[in-house]
Amino acid sequence: MTKSDILIIGGGPGGYETALRARKLGMSVTLIERGELGGTCLNRGCIPTKALCRSAEVATLLSHSGEFGLKSSDNSVDFTAVSERKNRIVAELREGVESLMKDVNLIRGEAVFVGDRVISANGELFTADRIIIATGSKPASLNIPGFDLALTSDRLLSLDALPKSLIIIGGGVIGMEFASIFSAFGVEVTVLEYCDEILPPFDKEIAKRLRMSLKRRGINIVTGAQVTAILPDGTVTFLSKGKEKSVVAEICAIAVGRQPVIPDRFELTGAMIERGAIRVDDTMQCLRQDGSSISGLYAIGDVNGRCMLAHAASMHGEVALGLRELTGLIPSAVFTQPECAMVGLTEEACLSQALDFKVGKATFRACGKAVAMGETDGLVKVIVDASSDKILGCHIMGPHAADIIQEATIAMTNGLTAQQVCECVFTHPTLSETLKAALLQ
Ligand code: FAD
Repeated sequence: MTKSDILIIGGGPGGYETALRARKLGMSVTLIERGELGGTCLNRGCIPTKALCRSAEVATLLSHSGEFGLKSSDNSVDFTAVSERKNRIVAELREGVESLMKDVNLIRGEAVFVGDRVISANGELFTADRIIIATGSKPASLNIPGFDLALTSDRLLSLDALPKSLIIIGGGVIGMEFASIFSAFGVEVTVLEYCDEILPPFDKEIAKRLRMSLKRRGINIVTGAQVTAILPDGTVTFLSKGKEKSVVAEICAIAVGRQPVIPDRFELTGAMIERGAIRVDDTMQCLRQDGSSISGLYAIGDVNGRCMLAHAASMHGEVALGLRELTGLIPSAVFTQPECAMVGLTEEACLSQALDFKVGKATFRACGKAVAMGETDGLVKVIVDASSDKILGCHIMGPHAADIIQEATIAMTNGLTAQQVCECVFTHPTLSETLKAALLQ
């Protein structure tokens, strides 16, 4: 049996980044991965979608080339070339991750528990002082007739030709990103969302603005739509305000959330699974049914269901290594055109907690850089505590929202007041000036 200081199951951003941090701390590390290093994020998630987002942005820019004083005669999409570029980017980054693994005992195979602290993979047995489960998640299913006819995000990413039309069931982050990408490539897109607004965790005002903006770009978005069946001819039936309705498209895709992947025979550890996810305490140690922590057994990233984002998975890994404390201040972004991003409390959450707060808003229309870029759609909205002047939340729709949110995250993580942030000199002309303008409100 091979014993190491740390044994990690799963080589996604949670697993591989934690393996590298642990090696830097001088620990011996075994990492077991059954598929490709980089996990969902690098192979089927963040990176391939962002490669497609970039091609989609270029397609949109080309279609407006006249505005920039440029003549572009052929704006047709070579989807084979788009896909090849995406695959090249994924392969290049995966090679980069593989090259970093020199000092890690990397085992290729499926990890299965054979005891509470013993794991088998590739016919070998492994144990460690600390075992970290980082097995991630897979697309969630929906209990409706015809579900198997719909494509998951994994399959959407491996399409080899553009469909004429596409229905996406689910208006969350993944669904909206795909809607924005395929619409920019000229596909007729319909999104069916069960809730009364898209992007349920986002600030309602921002989500509504994004919905209106995407509608203006030609995406058909139906909210309050309860999908009832998917038929073999491409028809999707749904209930809307009590009435049965239907839409039809060449392809139907489904993006209704993600479901944790639990290693086989994990029950041998005695750890609790709740609503499909491994329950953990704030140090990422697994919990028993009685609520006590299991020393040395951790679950990080999507598998613990706390926050299904790549940067949350890596942060969980740092917590498991004892390098930092857990934080709830995790920014999140949607790479639509225009982008959206958020950190902290929404206005709805502040209202429901009866907090005393002020809201400041500034639009990109008043930002010189955004006007020069020709991307003025959107705003920065900040929520500030009325008595302490600390920032409670920041919500952005607009160009590079996912980058600007980082500045608000740094300020909030360090407990800066709105005034302290405004005392910083902001480079001119930048999109970040809109954050300052909102804070000055
Ligand atoms: P994963 O990345 O899922 O990695 C888990 C790994 O464990 C996999 O490689 C798997 O093969 C391996 N594994 C599982 N079981 C076993 C076993 N028994 N033995 C051995 N190996 C095993 N997040 C963002 O932050 N930003 C984005 O822009 C973003 N875009 C996304 C777009 C899409 C389409 C999708 C699907 C997801 C996106 N995400 C994004 C979410 C992000 O990909 C995940 O939150 C992140 O990958 C979770 O990391 P993880 O390490 O927990 O798990």
